[in-house]
Amino acid sequence: MTYLSPGTGYDYAEFDVIVVGAGMAGMSAATAAAHRGARVAVLDRAPAIGGSALMSSGYVWAIASADELLAEDSGEFQRHGQVIVEGYAEIQRWLETLSPSLGDETPVLAGRGRKFDLGLMFLAMARDIQRRNGVILPGTRIRDADRTREGTYHLEIDREGADTKHLSSAALVLATGGRQADPEVRRRLAGGAGTPVLRGNPYSDGAGVALACSLGASANLSNLGFYGHLFAVGVSPVAPIDFTSFALYHSEHSILLDRAGRRFTDESRGDHNNAMAVAGHGGSALLIWSQKVQEQAATTAFVTASRRMNRFEISKDRGGRVARAADREEIRSILPDLGYQDCLGTLSDVVSPLLREGDVYLAEVSPAVTFTFGGISVDGDGVAQDASGNAIAGLYAAGADMGDIYHRGYGGGLSAAAITGRRAGHAAAGVARRKAARPGGAN
Ligand SMILES: Cc1cc2nc3c(=O)[nH]c(=O)nc-3n(C[C@H](O)[C@H](O)[C@H](O)COP(=O)(O)OP(=O)(O)OC[C@H]3O[C@@H](n4cnc5c(N)ncnc54)[C@H](O)[C@@H]3O)c2cc1C
Repeated sequence: MTYLSPGTGYDYAEFDVIVVGAGMAGMSAATAAAHRGARVAVLDRAPAIGGSALMSSGYVWAIASADELLAEDSGEFQRHGQVIVEGYAEIQRWLETLSPSLGDETPVLAGRGRKFDLGLMFLAMARDIQRRNGVILPGTRIRDADRTREGTYHLEIDREGADTKHLSSAALVLATGGRQADPEVRRRLAGGAGTPVLRGNPYSDGAGVALACSLGASANLSNLGFYGHLFAVGVSPVAPIDFTSFALYHSEHSILLDRAGRRFTDESRGDHNNAMAVAGHGGSALLIWSQKVQEQAATTAFVTASRRMNRFEISKDRGGRVARAADREEIRSILPDLGYQDCLGTLSDVVSPLLREGDVYLAEVSPAVTFTFGGISVDGDGVAQDASGNAIAGLYAAGADMGDIYHRGYGGGLSAAAITGRRAGHAAAGVARRKAARPGGAN
């Protein structure tokens, strides 16, 4: 066996566990596996580790009970949400051992959670992995993967400026962060009506699902749920800060109309659910809110994780289709520009009470997608399943690669990644240990 550090050249290396993706799920998996004594390799296509977690607001939160989970997400494909509800307390304790949280528990969307400094968290995880002889290989492209009849995983990889390498392991954890970086996937989420903006890292384009399927697993791509937020049509993120500066969190206190002037969802379910509702209803809608909501939106944090900023003005300055009107006449003149002239009839009823509070604010909105809910099918232990529901030994999916944690609601992304990642890493190390204990050794 050749077992060398990433700086040195090698053509072939054996590991106990290979983790694909170094975001919250992958690094949690690798850290957990390393703690259980496994030799780990973590591969990431991006030039640096961290994935969407390092763009996030850092709240590790979850829904508190099964009933509340059902109230938030009663979708038919919500099959694993309970794992996050039940795993919350333990994952908080574990993360605290790696890097202390930044404050007390606070309400977040439909649950509660704590903010962590995820930069320090990743630093702690990377130290733990490397201290235990693991390797972390950013900038790695997987060219090929297969699984022998004995259940050993082989990967052929390329790293910039280096020759092709071959890695093998007893267990493989897929944690590439979902499918949303593929524009076709985002188009499908919006029913083919336009291509929603990407609100996350640019590398998570479905490689985990593709790898899993090439190794015999199945995926549920009928789950068209996703986590995201509404953006004004026309804005274009140029930095991760835009993922929060453009998000119109206050849509939960606003009104959404379609082109025929109809309301089509209960907006109070939250901006993240409004994004899914708009995606499922033609891909764009007209958002209307009052002066009072505008003032609150500009001055308060609408969700715990949102920064205080005037998102209406930011969207206006950055090319968003937004407008402000002082009376009915002004609204009438604006609607054709926004493409909502057929709304005039309904709008009169809607805006009358709003105009009593001052100006009315309007935006044409469409969803921006952070991560997809449809992904690799797994059993109750996170092991990938084939189309008949049989477990594929040693193959795990975690985080946004794992399908059906949520469907029509959302109960936390970082907690889902950390909980399912840690579980997968722990189990993968167990698989490797059992294989190593067999006569003839690991691979
Ligand atoms: C602006 C923003 C704010 C957010 N705020 C919060 C919050 O406060 N709380 C919360 O719970 N959630 C939040 N989220 C969501 C949260 O960040 C994600 O749910 C979580 O990070 C997903 O973790 P993951 O490990 O599954 O995927 P990712 O973090 O996306 O990691 C996947 C990794 O896989 C890599 N990868 C992709 N393809 C390949 C490949 N072919 N080979 C190797 N590697 C590959 C990627 O480069 C990436 O590093 C936020 C997200 C954003 C964008």
